[in-house]
Amino acid sequence: AYRKGGYHAVRIGDPFSGGRYIAQRKLGWGQFSTVWLAYDTLTSNYVALKIQKSAQQFAQAALHEIEFLSAAADGDVDNSKCVVRLIDHFKHIGPNGQHLCMVLEFLGDSLLRLIRYNRYKGLKMNKVREICRCILTGLDYLHCELGMIHSDLKPENILLCSTIDPAKDPVRSGLTPILEKPEGNANGGGSTMNLIEKKLKRRAKRAVAKISERRVSMVGEETSSKTERSLDGIDMRCKVVDFGNACWADKQFAEEIQTRQYRAPEVILKSGYSFSVDMWSFGCTAFELVTGDMLFAPKEGDGYGEDEDHLALMMELLGKMPRKIAIGGARSKDYFDRHGDLKRIRRLKYWSLDRLLIDKYKLPETEAKEFAEFVTSILEFAPEKRPTAQQCLEHPWMNVKTENDADNVDAQMNNLQIKG
Ligand code: ATP
Ligand code: MG
Ligand code: MG
Repeated sequence: AYRKGGYHAVRIGDPFSGGRYIAQRKLGWGQFSTVWLAYDTLTSNYVALKIQKSAQQFAQAALHEIEFLSAAADGDVDNSKCVVRLIDHFKHIGPNGQHLCMVLEFLGDSLLRLIRYNRYKGLKMNKVREICRCILTGLDYLHCELGMIHSDLKPENILLCSTIDPAKDPVRSGLTPILEKPEGNANGGGSTMNLIEKKLKRRAKRAVAKISERRVSMVGEETSSKTERSLDGIDMRCKVVDFGNACWADKQFAEEIQTRQYRAPEVILKSGYSFSVDMWSFGCTAFELVTGDMLFAPKEGDGYGEDEDHLALMMELLGKMPRKIAIGGARSKDYFDRHGDLKRIRRLKYWSLDRLLIDKYKLPETEAKEFAEFVTSILEFAPEKRPTAQQCLEHPWMNVKTENDADNVDAQMNNLQIKG
């Protein structure tokens, strides 16, 4: 895809926007873009540089994303709303055409990588709570203050905040950003620099790349080692990213939104949607953080499609869909008969969320029940019955205090004293 209209090939040390940003290392990529760690020479900070493919439709998509990122940044003066910050954007002309580039605050690993790192065993409840608080803060901001629907919430699109400040990083000694193009590209060959100097520079560059790698990858790679891994030291603050599919509640662009496993029932049935589709995805994400497994992973089967399997999985866990909702969408007739029963999948195996958490995931009973109550209250088939992000923040589960929480010990002592 590194051809006309496609990705822009980047080499370490490449300058962008008149030399303000210097490419350091590749962070990730998507269908439309590659994302690079870059050094901002103006502010002396590291940033994430998202470089869009150049063809017209990709440029269009980037402009869309910039519109939503800008709106989010404008309303969040002190950068506290748990949404990734757009710092700058510009055009970059390369051999494959003109690429729109977004400069974003540099964040850490995605929650998907965090789950993988934990070998799909799920995270401790308190970590999940911290993460949920950030996601809900972000959603509340997008929904209530901006009127924006994210439409693609999932672990991959939530990034941990980088806890390491490059300026205070202990490994920083020797950490100099790469401010030059690699040789052969810079000042046209060997004459200006002698060979030894070049070799030293090259070695320094490799070292820098390694340090950047260590720092960027806070969570690390999944390994097969049997040793228990502790996330105790890791701060669980995170931010919502990827506004490529966002829309305004009163100006929607697509009927089919969201990544399959996180898609709300009203989207499958085409009954119209609003902010509450993000709440559905949030419920699915919370479950995945606790268990390491996707809540719904539909597959097409003998005589039925992925959509019908998805609806069946939802009902097996959440109970039968109310008839009015089941038959109320433009696509309802494809899946439901007039009684509100699925046409092709007749025998459902009902299993409640708390039993699933206890029996399959071996969660302690109280913990399982409290969490199941929280998630089940969000995964309402009727979109208007789902709680808002703000209501979720006030839910008892979000405000549970645990025994090893110092404040709670104090609170319990106080309680005892009052009672005594
Ligand atoms: P596309 O639209 O091109 O298909 P995408 O919309 O999924 O891709 P993003 O989710 O914005 O693109 O970014 C792709 C990946 O790049 C992320 O999953 C993450 O690994 C990395 N990334 C994106 N933004 C940042 C950031 N601000 N800081 C660090 N890494 C980032
Ligand atoms: Mg993404
Ligand atoms: Mg995108």
